[in-house]
Amino acid sequence: MKKKLVFATNNAHKLEEIRAILGSEIEILSLADIDCHDDIPETADTLDGNALQKAQYIYDKYGMDCFADDTGLEVKALGGQPGVHTARYAFPDRNDADANTAKLLGELEKKSDRRARFRTVIALIEKGETKIFEGIVEGEIASSKRGTQGFGYDPVFIPEQMGLTFAELGVEVKNTISHRARAVKKLAEYFHRRA
Ligand code: IMP
Repeated sequence: MKKKLVFATNNAHKLEEIRAILGSEIEILSLADIDCHDDIPETADTLDGNALQKAQYIYDKYGMDCFADDTGLEVKALGGQPGVHTARYAFPDRNDADANTAKLLGELEKKSDRRARFRTVIALIEKGETKIFEGIVEGEIASSKRGTQGFGYDPVFIPEQMGLTFAELGVEVKNTISHRARAVKKLAEYFHRRA
């Protein structure tokens, strides 16, 4: 029988990306697919902690093998911030991409070191056992917003050796090198090794 795994998300883009990479051997279920409409807590102070917290919540409540992800933008000159606060950097109660990027550009205005990285952590819980997979893309923060594609911080993040922002590169190129794609590929390799 085909292996079933819950991905603790309802983000259609993430589901599509992960289904494409994991292939047809594993059936990926979303939160909606298992009829979970809870506001899953994400109160840890690290990316690993948040990914684990979300996966553990599903595992405990539904007893199903599952995984969850969490992503942060870590800026060197800001001591790794916004990090775990990436989604709600500008406002503590909501995710406003324009305000988030404006705040970031403001914080870096007088800084010459603009190095940054995106880091995605995936926590997998299978039969009660936990595994962590990490994907990183190094790069730098542009001096102003550039490009129209993507979401979030894409207009200000220039991945290493590319010279263009994620928003200029476009989704197809981005999905081959992104932090999330790299973490998902590690998860896929783990399943393929065991198959
Ligand atoms: P999440 O953990 O995937 O929800 O990501 C947290 C936040 O990081 C998002 O709300 C975005 O602000 C930002 N983020 C994550 N991945 C990306 C990306 O690929 N491009 C731009 N911003 C991202």
